[in-house]
Amino acid sequence: MGVQRSRRTAAVVLAGAMAVAGVGLLAPAHAAERNQAETEQSASFERGHSSKPPPKQPTATGYGGAVATVDADATAAGLQVLRRGGTAVDAAVAAAAALGVSEPFSAGIGGGGFFVHYDAKTGEVSTLDGRESAPATATEQRFIDPATGAPLAFADARVSGLSVGTPGTLATWAEALDRWGRFGLARNLRPAIELAEDGFVVDETFRSQVAANAAIFADFPATAELYLPGGGPPAVGTVLPNPDLADTYRQIARRGIDVFYEGPIADEIAATVQDPPVRDGATRNVRPGDLTTGDLAGYEVIERDPTVVEYRGLQVYGMPPPSSGGSTVGEALNILENFDLGAMDEAQALHHYMEATALAFADRNRYVGDPDVIDVPLAELLSQGFADERACLLDPDAAAPKPVAPGVPDGDYSGECATAPDPAAVADEGSTTHLTTADRWGNVVAYTLTIEQTGGSGITVPGRGFLLNNELTDFNFAPTQGNAPDPNLPGPDKRPRSSMAPTIVLDGDGDPLLAVGSPGGATIIGTVLQTLVNRIDLGMDLPEALAAPRLFQPNAVNTSAEPAIDGGPLGVILESQYGHTLAPTPEIGAATGIEFLGRHRLQAVAEPVRRGGGSAAVLRPRR
Ligand code: GLU
Repeated sequence: MGVQRSRRTAAVVLAGAMAVAGVGLLAPAHAAERNQAETEQSASFERGHSSKPPPKQPTATGYGGAVATVDADATAAGLQVLRRGGTAVDAAVAAAAALGVSEPFSAGIGGGGFFVHYDAKTGEVSTLDGRESAPATATEQRFIDPATGAPLAFADARVSGLSVGTPGTLATWAEALDRWGRFGLARNLRPAIELAEDGFVVDETFRSQVAANAAIFADFPATAELYLPGGGPPAVGTVLPNPDLADTYRQIARRGIDVFYEGPIADEIAATVQDPPVRDGATRNVRPGDLTTGDLAGYEVIERDPTVVEYRGLQVYGMPPPSSGGSTVGEALNILENFDLGAMDEAQALHHYMEATALAFADRNRYVGDPDVIDVPLAELLSQGFADERACLLDPDAAAPKPVAPGVPDGDYSGECATAPDPAAVADEGSTTHLTTADRWGNVVAYTLTIEQTGGSGITVPGRGFLLNNELTDFNFAPTQGNAPDPNLPGPDKRPRSSMAPTIVLDGDGDPLLAVGSPGGATIIGTVLQTLVNRIDLGMDLPEALAAPRLFQPNAVNTSAEPAIDGGPLGVILESQYGHTLAPTPEIGAATGIEFLGRHRLQAVAEPVRRGGGSAAVLRPRR
């Protein structure tokens, strides 16, 4: 069901008792053993006009509302809105808008995302699909080079107009605020406007992201002007404003989102995509795209029923297709439900997690794509019967040779271990951001947004201060499924398959217990799943579950493994005893989450180390 962009009247959520979540169903958390600095937040956390970044810490516990993002300025923006009486949705939008300033390579109004909301008043979980869509003129041949008949190299596809989908982020904010916000877009944009005017302080993560993209950014004067001041990456400690984005946000605040989808900004986006503004003398072949003002004017945010599976007595809600996040995390949990992970040693539990992920990925690759274009057997993929059939392929003692074949989600699960022919592997990784918010009424938001690769297409809309996404490279460039149809080839108005997995877990009484999510392309699914297993099965509290070293097995020969596993005794056991092949990866994901500790107590959690550490805050800190 399409939702008209933002013309609905607001159904304001103000009331509703704060949900009190029980944790009785979970394995006991050994919080006392935690070795994490938990410096409490104070009111002075809110951003002032200094050139110092606000302080940040990865964990905050207390009352009245919570925000967890990857960035201290964004968390401060969300907290400011909560303090003034905003809902979790107001806070999520304020934080996301600030991320467009200080995390512009992962998020912004040039991109899209998926928004999951728990409504404390009704107990309902809803989702908004704000995924970028392909232009009406897109075909399956989109990323095939007509000169060679072969798929374009990824980098050539990425840095082009062809990769740019119609952005959905701004429409998502407007729709979410319309439904569940207390303040309008204009008010929620204020902290971000202030941040864009004053500037934020460049940290090492930001500097290194610019450095990795410097050659691309240098080819687009509008991008270079913003992010290569003086011709190179800004030094750590530099204060970087974005007056163009402040002005764009101000125009949106004044005139509404139509200025973006149907007004002058729409004209400029289409012109930029169709004729990418490359610097004189650049040798890069930047292929033009076909996004039109008609595509922008026709964009719709889509409300979709969340995915839900029951796991160890909890209800795990996620994002349905076109994201594969909810279905793949859900299927893997259903597979794992067949095994008592809590009774296993760490290596054995991780082996089960890896094998379940591989099986679920085979099914994701074969069956999941845009449900408005292809037929996705979602109910079957999420059924316990299908998962049980898949689980019989999981050898508790040995890794299966990869890739494993997809299953047959046909409703008949009487045959032993049925598989379909022609397995195929997967690969996609990029950059994104996840934020989690909760308010005093008990409403919760898990929101993952992206412009795809770190730095998106590299193309900034001149004078507007935001980068355009390269989300359409999330389509498969050529068929991947042998003789079976590929669910994720490009097509007109189609939304590329995502891995984003904003997740909300309710307890047996239907009260919120956890909300989590992460960036990381396909690895998102592993990060979310492993965090849930760590928390629900392995006795870790949420800060531990997020910080624990990660593995990712996307139905490929190699399992990506962070150094703490790859270089340690656990890695040795997984390889020598279980037959896995680990491939070192410096880090996987950058998660955030919130846990409801009971009696209105909240714990906001961000990464202590990955991507330079995230930022968690609560409105009224108390241990
Ligand atoms: N474009 C990716 C997806 O939608 C996300 C990229 C990332 O998280 O790094 O799955």
